[in-house]
Amino acid sequence: MAGEQAERRRLADEAAARLIATLDVVLGERLVPEPGVKPDRYADGVVVNGFGLLERCPRRAAHPADDFTETVATARRRVALAALRRLGDDASPAADAATAVDEVLSERTDLARNLAAWVEQLDRAGRAAVAAAAITWCSSVQRLVGSDGSIRWADPSSASHWDVPDRLVRVSASYDAVRGGVVTGERLLLVADGAGGPSDRLRAAYLALVRTLGTRHAPLRVTLAAPSRGTMERIDVDEDLLTLAVDRVVEHVVVRADRDAAAPRPGRWCAHCHLLELCDEGRSFLAAPADAAASVAAPDT
Ligand code: SF4
Repeated sequence: MAGEQAERRRLADEAAARLIATLDVVLGERLVPEPGVKPDRYADGVVVNGFGLLERCPRRAAHPADDFTETVATARRRVALAALRRLGDDASPAADAATAVDEVLSERTDLARNLAAWVEQLDRAGRAAVAAAAITWCSSVQRLVGSDGSIRWADPSSASHWDVPDRLVRVSASYDAVRGGVVTGERLLLVADGAGGPSDRLRAAYLALVRTLGTRHAPLRVTLAAPSRGTMERIDVDEDLLTLAVDRVVEHVVVRADRDAAAPRPGRWCAHCHLLELCDEGRSFLAAPADAAASVAAPDT
């Protein structure tokens, strides 16, 4: 066990060193905090999250939308996680997902302030829609991964993060559940709602990296649970996986650090892009006949 723990610590030290050194090379004096000023990475730097990291168009990654509003789709995971935590908590009388979700929505004490405020202003139909979506999330995930006492569901109001020393850069990621501990080896669970594909491995790699840096120990693995596909994909955390994530983080930070230079990468995703009106390349792509558009689309379309 001590040898395994030392190995996971070594992986963490090497991932941190690689990320710091590579950012030093590509950023130079950019994104460096002013001496004597408390760093504000949200206002003056780059905060990387899993959504931005998976963004396929560099221009859109450099100019993320700033008009986020809650919907049933964005709220259901966090409400469901809060409910699952109550089911395992002796302080809660809830004995099933429906009761636990109802408690979460009524009390709202275990939701982040913004989400709690959004839930509070919903009418009866809106709240029923959130409840139905959250109950479905709970039961489909529980059916796939089980519900034994070794699973610790994540706190939906917080995320793991790590600040790159002496840089205005933070990496941040959320997981859905964990088994095991930092010392014995964590096994993280990530619920995957999408259609699957190469981006799933990158999602797992990025979560593993953020957790590795934050706990200074690499987790043992990340499991991607996809209820819609009925699959559980176990991805071991090793040097290759962490390097994949480090390299992608560096690529993303460089794009965000020089926003005006970020190149467009048109694809079918242009149809839902908030920059479309200002983006000639995106509009040309969408206006082109389907066969021509396919020939200029990115390979992973
Ligand atoms: S419209 Fe397309 S190419 Fe232009 S920024 Fe958006 S996603 Fe990128």
